[in-house]
Amino acid sequence: MSKYWSDAIQELVPYVPGEQPKDQQFIKLNTNESPYPPSPKVAQVLQSFDMDRLRLYPDPDASRLKQALADYYGVDRSCVFVGNGSDEVLAHTFMAFFRQPQPLLMPEISYSFYEVYCNLYAVDARRIPLREDFQIALADYDQPNGGIIFANPNAPTGRTVSLDEIEQLLQRNTESLVVVDEAYVDFGAESAIELTRRYDNVLVVQTFSKSRSLAGLRIGFAIGHPDLIEGLERVKNSFNSYPLDMLAISAGVASIEDDSYFRETCDRTIATREWTAGELAALGFRVLPSSTNFVFASHRYIAGAELMGYLRTRGVLVRHFSRPLIDNHLRISIGTDDEMRQLISTLEEHPEITRL
Ligand SMILES: *Cc1c(COP(=O)(O)O)cnc(C)c1O
Repeated sequence: MSKYWSDAIQELVPYVPGEQPKDQQFIKLNTNESPYPPSPKVAQVLQSFDMDRLRLYPDPDASRLKQALADYYGVDRSCVFVGNGSDEVLAHTFMAFFRQPQPLLMPEISYSFYEVYCNLYAVDARRIPLREDFQIALADYDQPNGGIIFANPNAPTGRTVSLDEIEQLLQRNTESLVVVDEAYVDFGAESAIELTRRYDNVLVVQTFSKSRSLAGLRIGFAIGHPDLIEGLERVKNSFNSYPLDMLAISAGVASIEDDSYFRETCDRTIATREWTAGELAALGFRVLPSSTNFVFASHRYIAGAELMGYLRTRGVLVRHFSRPLIDNHLRISIGTDDEMRQLISTLEEHPEITRL
């Protein structure tokens, strides 16, 4: 705190990211990164990058990356927005669309950055409870609003709503924008990108951080009607002309072009997830069905915070959220088969855990 701080920043409640340990002693299952390296095509592009080009500014429009995404998803380039990670895309989305007289609607349990942006941009929000099974009930969003946002699959629950349910919401909710954050969609859910071709009231946000193993490069994007994209460009060009650097643009294109590697690593993560969920259930965990690269689980009689601490002392990092309704749960990212075997054997060594 300093006397030079403005009133506005004194009231900010910043997001707290999962721990990034400085030494590599830990099995890191706490921030939903991919355990696999990026595509070899990405490595190739970065290794052969002409350093002399770094004297120059990058393309402010990142046109090559936008075109690659447009081709991949079968939309026009004018329907694509890119940013420095999807967190930045989301921030611009809040700024561009959600500062409205009516409150923004969002799930009570979801990505906690949404609340941070509400705070930053003075967006009034109403949190809609999840159903008892942690599902998002989109029927509950039929009320006056200045926008709707949810993650699908949701985080940290891993649960999904169907495209049908989303489409019905778009048909009922015609006076405000619906934003679907699809950070985890590549691990087994249906993307709403298809709906952006027929509805101008939906914006889909995705990231290269999870399924494309590129969290360190910071690439996110949004797909929607060109008028929505133009709104985002207005905010972006009032904030930072060059959010994506040259390396990110080139590597992003290379990643999109290597579809077989992308599908193979997603499939591997899905297979490991299903194995892990089965093992956790056998050790007395309740595991929610997941369409993501993590599982959300609670043990029948050991508290979540205690288990997280136990795992940490044994060199395994998982995420625990100290908030009502989910404070008994752990969010466990899916690592390699070997890492997940080590997680399971570490849990088996816990004195109160027995195999059912
Ligand atoms: C990880 C995550 C993001 C942010 O991803 P970046 O592109 O790395 O900024 C956005 N939304 C959800 C739900 C996430 O889990």
